[in-house]
Amino acid sequence: MQSTNQNKNVLRSQESADVVVIGGGVIGCSTAYHLAKLEIGKVVLVEKEKIGSGTTGITGGILQNLSNSYARTMMQVQTVDLLTNILPSEGVESGFTETGAIFVTRKSSELNALEKMSSIGTACGVTSHLVSVEEISQLHPHLNTKGLVGGVYIPRDGSIDPGILCSSLKKAATKHGVEIYEQCLIKNIKTSRSGQVESVETDKGIIKTNKVVNCSGIWASDIAEKVGLKLPNVTYKRCYAVTKEIPGIENTPHIFDLQCGRYYKNQGSTLLFGGHEKNPIEIKKVPENFAFSFTNSDWLQFEPHVKSAFELLPCIKKAGFESITCGPDSFTPDGYPLMGESTDVKGFFNGTSFNGGGMMMSGGAGRQLAHWVAYGRPEFDMSTCDINRFPRNHDVEKVKRSCHKTFTTKYELKHF
Ligand SMILES: Cc1cc2nc3c(=O)[nH]c(=O)nc-3n(C[C@H](O)[C@H](O)[C@H](O)COP(=O)(O)OP(=O)(O)OC[C@H]3O[C@@H](n4cnc5c(N)ncnc54)[C@H](O)[C@@H]3O)c2cc1C
Repeated sequence: MQSTNQNKNVLRSQESADVVVIGGGVIGCSTAYHLAKLEIGKVVLVEKEKIGSGTTGITGGILQNLSNSYARTMMQVQTVDLLTNILPSEGVESGFTETGAIFVTRKSSELNALEKMSSIGTACGVTSHLVSVEEISQLHPHLNTKGLVGGVYIPRDGSIDPGILCSSLKKAATKHGVEIYEQCLIKNIKTSRSGQVESVETDKGIIKTNKVVNCSGIWASDIAEKVGLKLPNVTYKRCYAVTKEIPGIENTPHIFDLQCGRYYKNQGSTLLFGGHEKNPIEIKKVPENFAFSFTNSDWLQFEPHVKSAFELLPCIKKAGFESITCGPDSFTPDGYPLMGESTDVKGFFNGTSFNGGGMMMSGGAGRQLAHWVAYGRPEFDMSTCDINRFPRNHDVEKVKRSCHKTFTTKYELKHF
């Protein structure tokens, strides 16, 4: 086993920590970094494979500022702050490229809803404004604007390179004293009779601690089960395709097509695009040894996205496809993540199930989780994301039906 800290290559048999973060994806790395910044004592991060090898390693990396919820918008705004101010001040790269983005619509009635989303953004410090079809054409000359009635433009949206972000968070966290153990599997979590976390058992030894933060992504339910909790979430397969080179596509803004439920993001001289299918494939069990690997690439699942993509961006048809990527991601019944301390198990915190937006929420989510752990509450009202909003013994079938709805209606404006 390797520890990132100097002179510390093995977990001591009687290791102890003030907080153990489980999982070294973007959420775990961000949480560990923010915990260290609050100077609350010894923070240990345990990752069963390599940092960034879970869903983070295959993300599309889109960063949106706007959302329909205050809590989510604030988390996204704090991610932008992390990427553009905080990490550079730590002397590390952030992996962020600012390109701007446009939400486009074909329904006049939706322009009001877009305006509302824009005003929530204004309250959180995000600049955005409604744009006409002509302005959309100027901002994105490759777009076929037939049928569009307008949209909203957000200049500070962009893309995150997950590899760069995770390695920078790892560096910055380590600099502030976090001990990181890779290739170290959490096997169990011990609690007292009164339901207080007491220690975690890894395949390399035991760490005594009263606080754990479950940032284990698509494995979060397995970790929660170890303390007797059942998480209300479902894992689905998601896919995106990358085109071959498209001359002149560089630096064009991302496009969110609300009626078709698709996103398009420039990736250098190519386009990455995907969406949410009406018949998502559930992944019942993610193999424990999944790392930097994709679930079966599936053109059949992706096919429904292609027709509308060719219509909106004819350059895609001309260029053809380079690759398709599919991977697992967790969704909840109401589209909000599962965060905070469980009222049933003291010292068991969660930062999971980000409904397809874990990259863009990562900076704010890590910061709020750190505040939750350190001071018992986040910096602002996060009740929409609090894990305790669902009953402990929820109805599994009902949860499945609602998660299915969350996935299939993800691009309806009310879910942003
Ligand atoms: C195809 C696709 C496209 C996406 N596109 C976007 C996008 O454009 N924008 C966006 O914001 N989001 C996007 N997402 C979602 C985003 O990538 C995820 O929400 C985010 O990466 C989740 O990060 P995480 O840290 O929670 O999980 P992960 O990255 O999966 O990290 C969890 C870590 O926990 C570790 N772990 C698990 N069990 C244990 C254990 N027992 N012991 C120790 N370690 C353990 C795992 O090895 C893993 O490294 C996309 C997802 C997919 C699948």
